[in-house]
Amino acid sequence: MTGYRKIGRPLSAAWSCRSGAAGMMVLCLVAVSSALAQQDGSVNAAGLAAAPVCSNNKGEQVEFSSSDRGRPGLAAGMAIRDASGKPVVLRSNFAAAPREFQQFIDRHECAHHQTGDVDRPHPARNGPDHLMNESVSDCVAIRRLRDEEGFGKPSFDKVAAALRADMAKIGFPESSIASRIRNLSGCFANPASAHDLITQVLQQRGLPLP
Ligand SMILES: [Zn+2]
Repeated sequence: MTGYRKIGRPLSAAWSCRSGAAGMMVLCLVAVSSALAQQDGSVNAAGLAAAPVCSNNKGEQVEFSSSDRGRPGLAAGMAIRDASGKPVVLRSNFAAAPREFQQFIDRHECAHHQTGDVDRPHPARNGPDHLMNESVSDCVAIRRLRDEEGFGKPSFDKVAAALRADMAKIGFPESSIASRIRNLSGCFANPASAHDLITQVLQQRGLPLP
């Protein structure tokens, strides 16, 4: 989810993890095996946000699962296919994040499935293609929250504040943080829908539309 899926650091907030970093892959697999029982159909016992409707560009339903693994105090998400090939979003440490940010991470990770990122070769870490994928997922996520969940400016500000805090905690420079929030803000202000953007990306990539 956020920024930048393939950074070789511990899970970054909202950045999905299809990382080549060995430690991260171990984490992903462990999380898959232990957490799928906690599927979120609504607000769950732990008070986490309900998982959104999500299917990928091939029409496969994406499942969400939660764990407390990952870096303590840092909410994160990963968009991957599990060992059986099923598309999943793994949530970690969501209880550490404000509800609005939980909702954002879920939709950001879902967008990596919706745009086909998960099934494509991973672009170079923090290269332009990678950053573009992250910007697209951020944009899809914030527009879904605006159009489907009624997010206004106060909720947007909560997402931006949580994102800023987590990125700073991870060690991203202010320039990266500001750039990301600028992109989010522009997407939020633009009346185009998440669906419009997903369609555009899939068409550019020559991928099937759902
Ligand atoms: Zn991402």
